[in-house]
Amino acid sequence: MNFFIKTFGCQMNEYDSERISYLLESNGYKESADIYKANIIIFNTCAVREKAKNRLYGNIGNLKKLKSKNPDLLICVGGCTAQNLKEKLLKDFPYIDIVFGTHNISELPELIKRKKSLNNNICSIKEKGSDRFIYKFKRYSNFKAYVPIIIGCNNYCSYCIVPYVRGKEISVHPDKIIKHVKKLVLDGVLEITLLGQNVNSYGRDLTSNCKININFSKLLKNISGIRGLRRIRFITSHPKDFSDDIIFTIKKNENIAKHIHLPLQSGSDRILKRMNRRYTAEQYLKIVKLIRKEIPKCSITTDIIVGFPGEDEEDFRQTLNLVKEVRFDRAFTFIYSNREGTEASNFYDDKTLKEKKIRFLKLLEIQNKISLEENKKLIGKKFEVLVEGFGIKGKNILKGRLENNSIANFKGSKKDIGKFKYIKIIDTKTFYLKGKLCK
Ligand code: SF4
Repeated sequence: MNFFIKTFGCQMNEYDSERISYLLESNGYKESADIYKANIIIFNTCAVREKAKNRLYGNIGNLKKLKSKNPDLLICVGGCTAQNLKEKLLKDFPYIDIVFGTHNISELPELIKRKKSLNNNICSIKEKGSDRFIYKFKRYSNFKAYVPIIIGCNNYCSYCIVPYVRGKEISVHPDKIIKHVKKLVLDGVLEITLLGQNVNSYGRDLTSNCKININFSKLLKNISGIRGLRRIRFITSHPKDFSDDIIFTIKKNENIAKHIHLPLQSGSDRILKRMNRRYTAEQYLKIVKLIRKEIPKCSITTDIIVGFPGEDEEDFRQTLNLVKEVRFDRAFTFIYSNREGTEASNFYDDKTLKEKKIRFLKLLEIQNKISLEENKKLIGKKFEVLVEGFGIKGKNILKGRLENNSIANFKGSKKDIGKFKYIKIIDTKTFYLKGKLCK
């Protein structure tokens, strides 16, 4: 039996898909890259933005034809939208066979067996729980790996659905993480990315419930001491939990990438309060200033939401000012997306989509100009990149990631993939660099 898996959304979902593939392959199924050759189709879904849900609905709608031609085809929908909508998904799409949640991924092989023997549609959603098998996953890359360290989120930012679909924070025991990373390194992994909705609050539950003296900066330090591990990344940070200690740990340890993704969301204190972010623009700037002072070469990227309910011209102006002051290397900018069930979905919103789009484009214009200017400063300099694969443009064009998380394209050959190489930056675009392999 073949299965096909399609992933929507963030790195945590990508990792969950690696777990699903592992589980199914250990139960005798074979992964197929071709949806038309699959006996089981799995959609691992995202609920963060309305657009992602609409895309998913379009994708599930397209499966109806396939199912009518092949009634034995099993359609499974998991992930955050499944956790959020539960039986509603079965009502909207009666031809879905299995809906499974974010807390019961490891049950999927069992659910498939049950579906085959009972022939009833199944909706299996647990409301909470950690998963003992968190580090059983299929490796799609020989040299890179995601390592979840904390699952769930306690923050309840007023616009965000994640705490409702991923549950409360549960940190993985530090010994388990270290053991897992050591094994990855022995298997040839050069770069890991520590994952969590808020990695900076790692360990709080372990300290209060199990009296384990650990926090994120200590974990980072311990992981950076693992021999042979060339690069450590982490995502995502939360400014309210981003301690000075983390900055000093990054500074002192060479194998921790000098890149920090620090979501700002808004430059207006009034809006930050309505978002329940629990920091002010000034506190955010204080972190940035310390990063700039202690690690001058560190790149800083961010997320910004435009058009949050109640955002007026002055709030937006404050966001633009902060963007100009910080000069982010890159920013992921979004127009506010209403998520049913969140606090902000009850907020009065007096701005039209057209007005929001005008603000969004203004922000994009300013940020793109800054990104290009920052990229230009790299021209003529030499950087070490981890070669990740082929770039999208042209034959023999490789794609490498700099320590600062920028992508560079350069000529090379297949044998360079999975290795660290030095390149010289020769040109730049807004979103990527062009380089030349150094001899
Ligand atoms: S920190 Fe806020 S935005 Fe991030 S996952 Fe938690 S609730 Fe959502």
